[in-house]
Amino acid sequence: MTRYWAEHAWLGGDRAEAGVLIEVRGDRIAAVAPDVGPPARDGAIELRGLVLPGLANAHSHAFHRALRGRTHRGGGGEPPHGGGTGTFWTWREDMYAVAERLDPDAYRALARAVFGEMALAGITCVGEFHYLHHGPGGTPYEDPNAMGAALIEAAAEAGIRITLLDTCYLASGFGTPPEGVQERFSDGDAEAWAERAGALRAAPHARIGAAIHSVRAVPAGQLATVTEWARERGAPLHAHLSEQRAENEACMAVHGRTPAELLDQHGALGAHCCMVHATHLTDADVARLGGTAICMCATTERDLADGIGPARALADAGSPLCTGSDSHAVIDPFEEARAIELDERLRTERRGHFGAAELLAAATNHAAIGWPEAGRIEPGAPADLVTLSMDSVRLAGAQPDTLLESAVFAATAADVRDVIAGGRQIVRDGRHTTIDVPAELRASVAAVLPHGQAARA
Ligand SMILES: [Zn+2]
Repeated sequence: MTRYWAEHAWLGGDRAEAGVLIEVRGDRIAAVAPDVGPPARDGAIELRGLVLPGLANAHSHAFHRALRGRTHRGGGGEPPHGGGTGTFWTWREDMYAVAERLDPDAYRALARAVFGEMALAGITCVGEFHYLHHGPGGTPYEDPNAMGAALIEAAAEAGIRITLLDTCYLASGFGTPPEGVQERFSDGDAEAWAERAGALRAAPHARIGAAIHSVRAVPAGQLATVTEWARERGAPLHAHLSEQRAENEACMAVHGRTPAELLDQHGALGAHCCMVHATHLTDADVARLGGTAICMCATTERDLADGIGPARALADAGSPLCTGSDSHAVIDPFEEARAIELDERLRTERRGHFGAAELLAAATNHAAIGWPEAGRIEPGAPADLVTLSMDSVRLAGAQPDTLLESAVFAATAADVRDVIAGGRQIVRDGRHTTIDVPAELRASVAAVLPHGQAARA
């Protein structure tokens, strides 16, 4: 058994508790006692600052990390004129160029570095929305799940848990077959997807879930195959929902329904489901989504000029919120959390939609990715403890009665000092204990950038 004494810790209330003794047995928390003064802490390992439960990154595409910083200028590397150029759709072309260069080894190396970056940010579990399944031209690898297995191994090496959200992707758009690199995403039909995904193996650190890429990418007649697969297994089911207005317009034109209506009709909403983005919704959509988790990906949504989703209305309708770094424009769960409130302020010209504890609850929502026992400092939960230093220039001077507000509205990922995940220390004094994360990011990103871009790097 290991005993920790946290100077301050968040146990789920509106304020941080002082002097919290946390006993860890194996990979679980065995006991938690607040108000234990330093004299009584009895040789426990000291965690100075504010200790949070492990943060959850509920929506990730690990390989998108290779595009960070490379999508803000015009074509051909021209300097921007009047600001960056490009749209969601031109960004997608850049992303496909990286996808084209990945094989299981390169994918594992890149994902290991990206998951290492997540660990440094205090993330102890990732929901990896995984759709790059097959080799060039869509030819399956010898192990048809080689790419998924690479992600599961990468998470183990980085010391974090993973839910592999194996994603069904069958079409380029409504009624159009996959083309180019999209062939690598497709299993041909939902039955073949279900058979391949059914062969994925969970591990102590890895659970298997399902995803519908979007209503664009899975024909309506095949949605139920995916939703039933998830329901039968009690597995989480995720989908990209209404990120772009163009998707809504195309869905209305083809099906006469919004994407939320279409997904609901085929069983893709409910307590085990999580809709990602949920940016452009009707009032009826918001009501229909009540009870389904919603993953806000604010830093990606702002990067791609998607718009601002109705987070407060969704929460009021009964949807638990969670957060994801999605395209990894940045990996900073504090920025994701505060953006939920700050974006609402910009949209409504009013303050005070979400409190700090509510935003922290979203950032520590592991249930949405199929780990309902995680994300809280309490007996029986996985022993995930994230220590925020209160000595940094951002947080120095924070007061005990407003520590949560300081953490949510002023901290960055760089303030994470120590991370214990499943009882194991994976970050010590701001460094990963087993991976040289910056070096591995440099090497693995360079390896997958298309030649022209790498040469300019
Ligand atoms: Zn996404």
